[in-house]
Amino acid sequence: MIVLKGAEVSARIKEQVQEMMKGLDGKIPRLAIVRVGERPDDLSYERGAIKKMASFGLEAKSFPFPEDISNQEFQEEFQKINRDPEVSGILLLRPLPKHICEADIEKLIDPRKDLDGISPANIAKVFAGDATGFAPCTAEAVVEVLKANNIPIAGKRAVIVGRSMVVGKPLAMLLMKENATVTVCHTKTADLAGTCRMGEILVAAAGRAKMLDGSYVGDGAVVIDVGINVDDEGKLCGDVDFESIEQKASMATPVPGGVGAVTTAVLARHLVLAAVSAR
Ligand code: NDP
Repeated sequence: MIVLKGAEVSARIKEQVQEMMKGLDGKIPRLAIVRVGERPDDLSYERGAIKKMASFGLEAKSFPFPEDISNQEFQEEFQKINRDPEVSGILLLRPLPKHICEADIEKLIDPRKDLDGISPANIAKVFAGDATGFAPCTAEAVVEVLKANNIPIAGKRAVIVGRSMVVGKPLAMLLMKENATVTVCHTKTADLAGTCRMGEILVAAAGRAKMLDGSYVGDGAVVIDVGINVDDEGKLCGDVDFESIEQKASMATPVPGGVGAVTTAVLARHLVLAAVSAR
């Protein structure tokens, strides 16, 4: 089984980003990372994003707010960032605390700065197959991993486990745009293992540690593991039981070191695209 490393795909995207930055006459795009509270996974994602932006020669600034900020105050603060001409793009760390209305922020965010594709305008574009908007970075990262490794998508059976608006649903649209035949699975899917085995491309995005073992993988399948979980020993792991698929899959992404690294690289590309379009 070939291990598909995210770092190699990220390095390719870095080259594209540096080429695109030539159109900015030395202006460095700035990412605003908006965080409410101190959730450890938010802090970890924020650190990773800041590090990646720096390694790509881009700026990232964190905008942290206290967990108990009111809905109205958060909307006002968010609007200031949204309107700040020095901010080229925004990453909102989610989920937000329950008392803050996410749907309102999704409507408020300027679609031109909405790097992670949460606004209705960008989602509509993804569903319409219109590439002029921003797709959610993780969904785009999965397609990027396939393309960067010259894995054919057109005409292939792609099975996705997970139907969230962050990964599963937009990814289904992006893979369909690439002419895959897509099946989306969820908790009510009958015979999940049998359905997964049909996939020539199998994407795991369920958020369940090591749930997909070799019995879910068809012979020769390409397995892309989006999951970021912690196992019983407190170690980071994906949704796929990596060792048990080694004799079945032809290629697979590891966790860590797979899709996650590509997601932040796609975020960087979106940031530069936003800055270029704003000129
Ligand atoms: P959600 O919890 O929003 O969605 C999970 C989806 O998986 C749901 O559609 C759910 O089905 C389905 N699912 C859960 N358990 C099962 C099961 N036992 N059998 C079949 N389907 C199941 O998660 P996200 O989409 O936000 O994230 C998924 C994973 O990806 C997480 O581990 C997350 O940490 C990771 N992630 C990784 C990123 C990266 O950059 N690598 C970025 C974003 C997320 P149902 O709809 O029926 O409930």
